[in-house]
Amino acid sequence: MSLVLSDPDLLRQRALIDGEWFDADNGNACDVTNPASGELLGTVPDMGADETRRAIDAAHAAFPAWAKKTAKERAQILRRMFDLMLQHQDDLAALMTAEQGKPLAEAKGEVAYSASFLEWFGEEAKRMYGDTIPGHAGDKRILTLRQPVGVVAAITPWNFPSAMLGRKIGPALAAGCTVVCKPATQTPFSALALGVIAQRAGLPPGVLNIVTGHDAAAIGEEMTGNPKVRKLSFTGSTAVGKRLMAQCAEGMKRVSLELGGNAPFIVFDDADLDAAVAGAIASKYRNTGQTCVCANRLFVQEGVYEAFAEKLVAAVAALRVGDGLQGATDQGPLIDAKALAKVEEHVADATAKGARVATGGKRHALGSTFFEPTVLLDVDAGMLIAREETFGPVAPLFRFQTEDEVIAMANATEFGLAGYFYTRDLARSWRVSEALECGIVGINTGLISTEVAPFGGVKQSGTGREGSKYGLNDYTELKYVCVGGV
Ligand code: ADP
Repeated sequence: MSLVLSDPDLLRQRALIDGEWFDADNGNACDVTNPASGELLGTVPDMGADETRRAIDAAHAAFPAWAKKTAKERAQILRRMFDLMLQHQDDLAALMTAEQGKPLAEAKGEVAYSASFLEWFGEEAKRMYGDTIPGHAGDKRILTLRQPVGVVAAITPWNFPSAMLGRKIGPALAAGCTVVCKPATQTPFSALALGVIAQRAGLPPGVLNIVTGHDAAAIGEEMTGNPKVRKLSFTGSTAVGKRLMAQCAEGMKRVSLELGGNAPFIVFDDADLDAAVAGAIASKYRNTGQTCVCANRLFVQEGVYEAFAEKLVAAVAALRVGDGLQGATDQGPLIDAKALAKVEEHVADATAKGARVATGGKRHALGSTFFEPTVLLDVDAGMLIAREETFGPVAPLFRFQTEDEVIAMANATEFGLAGYFYTRDLARSWRVSEALECGIVGINTGLISTEVAPFGGVKQSGTGREGSKYGLNDYTELKYVCVGGV
């Protein structure tokens, strides 16, 4: 089914630099396809370092005037963007489902979630307070100011084409920074639509620039090498994040990195099993298992292992798989053939080493990149799926006996983004929350994302926080002012 928008202007096939829409200098374009059908949706300019440099120049030129506006003036524009996003929620969601594959209901939720960062940070930046500090000498006074860091480069992934951008531009623009962003090659239309919305909301030219292109390394090298950029905010794989951090070291740019996860999801034998199943479905199968906070390893205590597995398998077998633009679905296709191959590899490795397929386990009859929602039993630490992020609809169930044992198992990973557990024991809730090596803990819930809370990881899952009052700090510098001769 082809994509029909009530406002076709939201589908932009050009990139946004300094308030104007451009093709690539070389005239080349990249195809954007629907992963559910392989259908060509359109193209975007195949830009490189030169266009990126021009976008950075535009952001740099726009910075002083944008930073000088009052927080309230900036907030009013962000509020208009928020309103426009909700007004066009259906179109933005359809565009997202078409380019990314997620169920339409999830896409609508993502548009609202993305918009919430614009609203919340617009409000929060009005409270970017400094301090007055009791001085160290009678003739001196001390105070602090918080100022925007400057030009921000933002690189975003395909799994949340709107939200990952909203999470970055919300705090950046609210704080007074200007932005050059590069959306993922697979899903640029959601980002470009935000560019249209920003213009309609009255965001001045150059404050938000969006460059597209398949040569991410060339665009990234310009962003990280250009001295006019003061900060990089990246969401994506750990390997690319490390590379970008190293590139940023040369110019001592600030970095915020949201990288891979390998989230443990622990079910203790005192858990409410129905609630744990609902949480596992929400955490594991949302976006077809393609989120960095998806439960990747499900640890189930021995006494409830069989009962939990039985309930989970029933719930997973009932998930509706299909093209999100054609009726209600719970699960869409994977983003591309590479993603499908990785999921197949994880399942093949696990079954070769003794895991059992309780449901699913293979490509879906719908073809394309659809994979059956899958549950694997008797999984152990020697399998690939225990170490790597699967990024697909496969729930591997591990068995454990004691709390100490499962904490050690949960922490036996270089990642540390989210962790979840289900228990009714209050003391255990505290102990396990404190012991898990991760930035986000969900107790008796599988859904933890909100603009009002700090989202981010420890260990190799990254650095920095998005959302909440802490998220604004990532886009400001603290300046200490010492007044003498008083
Ligand atoms: P994924 O495996 O989820 O696609 P990536 O880390 O490869 O994760 O991609 C996340 C984002 O980083 C995308 O926008 C992608 O184009 C971009 N990217 C990939 N490689 C580089 C690179 N070398 N420099 C800058 N950006 C990159």
